[in-house]
Amino acid sequence: MPRPIHATIHLGALKHNLGIARRHAGNAKVWAVIKANAYGHGLDAAARGLRHADSFAVASAEEGLAVRAAGLTQPVVLLEGAFAPDDIAIAAREGFELVVHSAQQLAMLEAFAGGPLAFWLKVDTGMHRLGFRPEEARAAHALLQRHPLRRGSVGWMTHLARADEAGTPGVAEQLAAFTAFADIPGPRSIANSAATLAVPASHADWIRPGLALYGISPFAGRIGADEGLRPAMTFETNLIAVRAVRMGEPVGYGARWTAPEDGTIGIAAVGYGDGFPRHVPNGSLALVAGRPAALVGRVSMDMIALDLRGHPQVEVGAPVELWGAAAPIEQLARAAGMIPYELTCGVTQRVRHDVV
Ligand SMILES: *Cc1c(COP(=O)(O)O)cnc(C)c1O
Repeated sequence: MPRPIHATIHLGALKHNLGIARRHAGNAKVWAVIKANAYGHGLDAAARGLRHADSFAVASAEEGLAVRAAGLTQPVVLLEGAFAPDDIAIAAREGFELVVHSAQQLAMLEAFAGGPLAFWLKVDTGMHRLGFRPEEARAAHALLQRHPLRRGSVGWMTHLARADEAGTPGVAEQLAAFTAFADIPGPRSIANSAATLAVPASHADWIRPGLALYGISPFAGRIGADEGLRPAMTFETNLIAVRAVRMGEPVGYGARWTAPEDGTIGIAAVGYGDGFPRHVPNGSLALVAGRPAALVGRVSMDMIALDLRGHPQVEVGAPVELWGAAAPIEQLARAAGMIPYELTCGVTQRVRHDVV
């Protein structure tokens, strides 16, 4: 028998969430962001569930090659462009589109002799992470537009730092800075998930949602269902022991929790070795046989303990949902002082993925 911990990836949810993104975006096309192994969901599952996306976005040429290996033939955008000349050669061969964010990348591209290349110029309108400053952007765009190997018009893209915060002036300031280039043709892309859902003015020609496609809300205090999204991953295990605990007995490493009265605890086969967050406090909820039970004591590498007071019928083998449609990942992430991206990306290799 394998350990019971497993992640179920729901293809129907991926497809549904892509539809929600499209509904928000009107006529804009969609880059489905599937970097980091589709945010931990697995590239093959994402390739199936999101196969109707117009294009895919990843973080590196290696990830782009994995998209091709998964059988997808749509355009692929490398969100950070080329790290080295080899990446440009792969992009030319595979038809990957390159984001260009720095003078170093421009110099690499000038020196490249090979096949055709498609470019997206990244403008830093306020995120201050990657991109040309607005005063450098026109010259950089013109240089790419003159590149002898260019195919298609050079696109314009920027990234919003605070699209998840309703009403922050930062978003309008970034959009205004980007509008300064409206006189120069080329497709535009601005919106991540938060902007797709909440900032219609950012939709432009291509939206590029990631998180929302996996059914997760990008907004603090909300869950995917609040946006009409369906969780693409259920992270589940079983109870491998159900045992009595007497009043005053501590449970687990460091005796972080002590039974306040005689009761029952369940031991579930999941721990930080599977990607369950170690910093979850006492009292965080998991669903045992469909009903909430509080985590008690420290998370171990392979196990957690759950307080089964109020669960008299529960036996060894009972299913435990750690996150999924009934146990929102956003709530567990908040309890752990994390964001949902970290949880899905952090599911480790030993966890079996079932794609349904
Ligand atoms: C990861 C990424 C996205 C997707 O962001 P979400 O918040 O997951 O929707 C969009 N654009 C860029 C440049 C990214 O790196």
